[in-house]
Amino acid sequence: MSEERVVDKKAGEEKMAKVVSLCKRRGFIFPSSEIYGGLRSCYDYGPLGAELKKNVMAEWWRSVVYEREDIVGIDASIMMHPRVWEASGHVAGFQDPLVDCKNCKERFRADKAPKVEKGTEVEYVEGGKRGGKKLHGKAERGYVCPVCGSADLSEERMFNLMFRTNLGPVEAADSTIYLRPETAQAMFVQFENVQSTMSMKVPFGIAQAGKSFRNEVTVEHFIFRSVEFEQMEIEFFCEPGTQGTWMDHWTSERIGWYRRYLNRKDDVRLRRHEKDELAHYADDCYDLEYFFPWGWDELEGIASRTDYDLRKHSEYSGKKLSYFDQNATDPETGKPGRRYVPYVIEPSAGATRSVLMFLCDAYDEEPATEPGGEGRVVLRLHPRLAPIKAAVFPLVKKDGLPEAARDIVKRFFRAGINARYDEQHSIGKRYRRHDEAGTPYCLTIDGQTKEDGTVTIRDRDTMKQERIRIDDAVDVVRKRLDLGA
Ligand code: ATP
Repeated sequence: MSEERVVDKKAGEEKMAKVVSLCKRRGFIFPSSEIYGGLRSCYDYGPLGAELKKNVMAEWWRSVVYEREDIVGIDASIMMHPRVWEASGHVAGFQDPLVDCKNCKERFRADKAPKVEKGTEVEYVEGGKRGGKKLHGKAERGYVCPVCGSADLSEERMFNLMFRTNLGPVEAADSTIYLRPETAQAMFVQFENVQSTMSMKVPFGIAQAGKSFRNEVTVEHFIFRSVEFEQMEIEFFCEPGTQGTWMDHWTSERIGWYRRYLNRKDDVRLRRHEKDELAHYADDCYDLEYFFPWGWDELEGIASRTDYDLRKHSEYSGKKLSYFDQNATDPETGKPGRRYVPYVIEPSAGATRSVLMFLCDAYDEEPATEPGGEGRVVLRLHPRLAPIKAAVFPLVKKDGLPEAARDIVKRFFRAGINARYDEQHSIGKRYRRHDEAGTPYCLTIDGQTKEDGTVTIRDRDTMKQERIRIDDAVDVVRKRLDLGA
């Protein structure tokens, strides 16, 4: 585990403000329904954000589904039979402790509030307003209001995070259904169908990525916590007794996956849960954390969940969810063949949270290189995540240069590489615009292009330019997108 790192709160807030501003300015992320004043904890992914999110999710899918023989992917319905959520424990237990601050009226989650020693005398300002009267109180519950620091708090009330709606035109209790709060359950419920139709042999996994919904009570750090978000989850089924080995495998796989794309590899770490943090059915769990501008926080949970989920769904549905291993020997009878309920390792990642992580990691400001020159903001996204891989500019809007540039863009598209034609403003401004968009390569068509069939290619990070042949352009960019081994 990495050593504890100190957070510079002010610098962190400034960095977040800059990332949020860049997201708006460059069309990555906008507040939802902005012209109506926005909607709390809801966001829209603009043209570049939609591409970035899609790329993050595609890289995950590639590494867990395409590059592995032991995992298959599904795409299940967001709405499921309500009994699913009774079996999973979400109806009874997917709740957060909600508290109101009687001093400043902030509503917050008790488990996320700043902790202080129980009984500590705390000082805060009346109403949480600047210049207000100084008040004192004892933090009897071991936490204080995250906004004003007061210990004058309401009782904790449990609040279920699932969004409820009705299937069909009648709003009756028996038509209540839920928007899924996680993608995981469909992979347990479809265990039998997937295993038998694809002839999967334990150990094997099912992967799914998609939307989840939680009626979150706290607003936190831009898209870090939103009410509608995307997850990327795996349920990896293994023989009981082998879960420790698979836990080692998945923790190292998943941290390796993030490091492949991050500029600062040490900004992710694994934090093992203490015994008293574990859910009653789990025998091990890790949080995969990133050093966000406000400090270490969760990106992904990797839990060893035993056979709890399959057993619960068997119990509630009355359908047997187990696996028959023809090659094993039954330990009780000594006969060939053994039936058992597989154990599961669940690496559960947030796709939208990963988008925020990659934006924070990539955001960089470079000072001017010469006196009187201009500095630049550059988004050093991994080329595979970058929304646009190559921008193609005609130096001027005449002499056949736009046609030549559009022709190169077409070559990129034919090769399955996202490219963009751009003729607006000066070349310098175009470079800056694409630095902020994270575009790794810019190609410029100039007068020489017509004479010798070459263009300049500029590298986003080094700003170095070289001349290459048009016929090599796709290959040069493709090679640089390669992940290597
Ligand atoms: P938290 O403690 O932050 O509420 P959690 O432990 O309940 O999160 P899980 O249920 O383990 O989260 O969900 C798995 C992953 O899904 C999280 O690690 C996170 O990346 C993502 N996630 C969960 N809730 C949200 C949310 N409201 N907005 C964005 N991503 C989320």
